[in-house]
Amino acid sequence: MIYVDNNATTPIAPEVAQAMAEAYAAGYLNPASQHRPGQRARRRLDDARDTILNLLGGETTRFASDRLIFTSGGTEANNLALFGLGGDRPGQVIISAIEHPSIAEAAQQLQARGTAVRILPVDGQGVVQYEQLDAWLEQPTRMVSVMLANNETGAIQPIQQISTICRKRNVPLHVDAVQAVGKIPVSFEELAADAMTVSPHKFHGPRGIGGLILGHGVKLNPTMFGGSQQLTTRPGTESVELAIGFETALRLAIETLPEAGAKMQSLRNLLETTLLEKLGAERVCINGGKADRLPHTTNLAFPGLNRQALVMALDMVGVACSSGSACASGSSEPSPTLLAMGLSEAMVAGSIRVSFSRFSSEEEVREASGRILSAVNNLRR
Ligand code: PLP
Repeated sequence: MIYVDNNATTPIAPEVAQAMAEAYAAGYLNPASQHRPGQRARRRLDDARDTILNLLGGETTRFASDRLIFTSGGTEANNLALFGLGGDRPGQVIISAIEHPSIAEAAQQLQARGTAVRILPVDGQGVVQYEQLDAWLEQPTRMVSVMLANNETGAIQPIQQISTICRKRNVPLHVDAVQAVGKIPVSFEELAADAMTVSPHKFHGPRGIGGLILGHGVKLNPTMFGGSQQLTTRPGTESVELAIGFETALRLAIETLPEAGAKMQSLRNLLETTLLEKLGAERVCINGGKADRLPHTTNLAFPGLNRQALVMALDMVGVACSSGSACASGSSEPSPTLLAMGLSEAMVAGSIRVSFSRFSSEEEVREASGRILSAVNNLRR
């Protein structure tokens, strides 16, 4: 099986599995306990938290430190940001048209409970258009949430421009950086956001942990109750072992990024050019291909084909890819991201996502290209 569905999740790196096995063997106990074994666990957890924050451009040394709240993953961190960021500030919530379902559907819930939600549009390449944002922020606004890079097309979003507008209007900005971390350099400080979501299973870390970085002094109401952990913002016993896996995966992802980024991009380009050469531009299109993109993601439209049939045909010949966000992969719903880009229904119906990792090889990509070509030609017959 050739695995090219790394935006859904990635295989754990051997070094991460090793670090976690050692952590389990070290016998850490409850970091909230007051006894010495508890204090030992707390110290290791705090170390992991500081390292993660430092690696992501957070501030840990000054009195005015940023904070990292551990969650169960990106979905929970996004929900926490959407429901909690800004504290009790009244007002609307603004998101973009291409957010992951953990933002888009959380926003629908807010709307059902009476919050006004406004949606920033995207252009034909899937890049958020923020020209109206400044005017929208004249209305009371609790928070804005825009992703750093899209999970379906890889399109990188103009977060610095958006954060400048939000800072000027003093409105908190949340950034979902789940797909960007480990694929491009990401600095919380440079983005000038107030909150940022990270999920280590997207960069060869463990599933079951994620994080929400919060700027110093940024208000966040909890969405769960019943414990004093993480300053009551997200109660529940923390896992030192998962935090160590998160820390190790992030360190490796950042250390390997200069080489891995270039490699993933050349593999992605190899796949795209092979398919374009063999099929021609009328039979395959690269959705969002003109945007500034993450190096490892491509979204391919095969007009006239059915994406579900293609994903299944590819599975049968040993290529694991997807027809959109993993959260929606069991469904046949057309991708809201591609629809927001203004693609025709026929293009959306025939679009699949292929995503590489630093473990992908040229041999695999050449083989996958051949299998995709024959599956496409078979389905066209
Ligand atoms: N945000 C984006 C952009 C994603 O791609 C994903 C996962 O696909 C998530 C959030 C959710 O993260 P998790 O799978 O850790 O819940």
